[in-house]
Amino acid sequence: MRGLMMDWPLTLTTILERARRLHRKREIVSRTPLGVHRYSYGDYVERVDRLRTALAGLGVGPGDRVATFAWNSYRHFEVYFAAPCMSAVIHTLNVRLFPDQLVYIANHAQDKVVLVDATLLPLFNKIRPQLTSIQHVIVLPDDGKPVDPANGLDYEELLARSAPASDYPAIDENAAAGMCYTSGTTGNPKGVVYSHRAIVLHTMVQVGADMMGMTAKDTLLAIVPLFHANAWGLPYAAVMSGAKMVWPGAFLQPADLAPLMETERVTLVGGVPTIIGALYQYLRENKSKHDISSLGRIFVGGSACPRSLMEGFRRDFGVWISHAWGMTETTPIGTVAAIKPHLENLPPEEEVGLRLKQGLPAPFVEIRIVDESGKRLPEDGKAFGELQVRGPWIVSGYYRDPRDAESFQDGWFRTGDVANIDPEGYLQLVDRTKDVVKSGGEWISSVDLENAIMMHPQVLEAAVIGVSHPKWQERPLACVVPKPGATLTPGDIIAAIKDRFATWWLPNDVVFIEAIPKTSVGKFDKKVLRDRFKDHQWPE
Ligand code: AMP
Repeated sequence: MRGLMMDWPLTLTTILERARRLHRKREIVSRTPLGVHRYSYGDYVERVDRLRTALAGLGVGPGDRVATFAWNSYRHFEVYFAAPCMSAVIHTLNVRLFPDQLVYIANHAQDKVVLVDATLLPLFNKIRPQLTSIQHVIVLPDDGKPVDPANGLDYEELLARSAPASDYPAIDENAAAGMCYTSGTTGNPKGVVYSHRAIVLHTMVQVGADMMGMTAKDTLLAIVPLFHANAWGLPYAAVMSGAKMVWPGAFLQPADLAPLMETERVTLVGGVPTIIGALYQYLRENKSKHDISSLGRIFVGGSACPRSLMEGFRRDFGVWISHAWGMTETTPIGTVAAIKPHLENLPPEEEVGLRLKQGLPAPFVEIRIVDESGKRLPEDGKAFGELQVRGPWIVSGYYRDPRDAESFQDGWFRTGDVANIDPEGYLQLVDRTKDVVKSGGEWISSVDLENAIMMHPQVLEAAVIGVSHPKWQERPLACVVPKPGATLTPGDIIAAIKDRFATWWLPNDVVFIEAIPKTSVGKFDKKVLRDRFKDHQWPE
């Protein structure tokens, strides 16, 4: 017997319609180079409708990729709903990637249109000549200056002359709504394609009280970039619940964030440990200057939350950080560290330990750990193995990419993270199979750096490892074996590779060693190197 219910598609248009009908008066606030901009959800929806018309006028049709190259702002966020609600696909480009990667990504995704912050044009114009599929560049005039037609179309002018679209195309819930490329994997970045259904289900679960618990009463400060894993889904959750939204733009220094939190009465913040850590230090040092008493929840993910940060926020501001784990491939929420009622009154040391775990799987997400042969491991909080996940918002394949075979096992996605799961079901990450260096929530490929260093004629071998850093969590350390008789300095190594990478990719230090330790199959054994250099002192 089948249920007798409507076959109703789960698409983002439903969330946008809800905002139009119910949240018209809620505010969206953006920090821009010109100061603070504010408007209502009513204004937002109207501009989204105009943008749908404008993009259609430029030839954007179903399935076309609409790329963005922008900071977190109201204009960028207008594209977030406009593209999918006209059955196109928003593709957020990570403005922090280095040019070769951006070119690969934009060409691989075959982006048709790109919307670029005026303040990011100098960066964008460097890659522009190599973009093969872009038909229109639209400039978001965040600097308030008239747009030079040589750079592209003026976003505001386009909106002004486009009538608001009044209806939606029929959209299949499994159609693509958004795209994002993973960064820092060896080889080329991989494309993840989010369906409407995946995002809608993710949003519904995300607002749950044991997840991120967002309501119409909240004011969200999304520090996590719109170009990194859908800003963790937070903006979709805000539009569905009618939360006030605050966008920090490019102003991510604590001295900019703190006053915004105070004046807008922010209740909920999401960001990577580096930024939240810097914010914490600043707030502590300037306690009397800023009233952040409205703050109720802070979500931290992207890399492990340091104990000192978790304890410090609680001690100094009375707020527990909620730790969450996810990936670009998981839309991104996989787990959130909610505390079960019978674990609420643990001794303080144990409680912090529990909160520092990555948490419980979201409803509909299943997790397991397996050994190298793929056998499921016991969930005793001790045994650890590769973390695998499955669920309705977990990737089922990469976009036009031959690397699927190694990424899935029996219908489970192989995360590349190494973890344990305790008998209560809490996930704890212990390591990662990949050797990427995590710097401030962004990834740096150690292999790319090694390959470049090993091209130096006086270098025999090189391995790059992530070593902990007080500000950036990790920074790359290059371990180099010079050829016999070579006369090399650390500066020579950096000089040889510096034009090939973004500055923040460059190793903070270079050490010269006798040999790179190898595994039994001849691969570099970075574990040994990591142990050896775990207390490495970074140069000032
Ligand atoms: P990305 O796709 O860039 O979001 O990176 C996903 C990866 O970040 C995961 O596979 C983990 O290795 C790491 N990660 C995400 N959240 C956490 C967390 N809470 N603790 C430790 N590592 C994390």
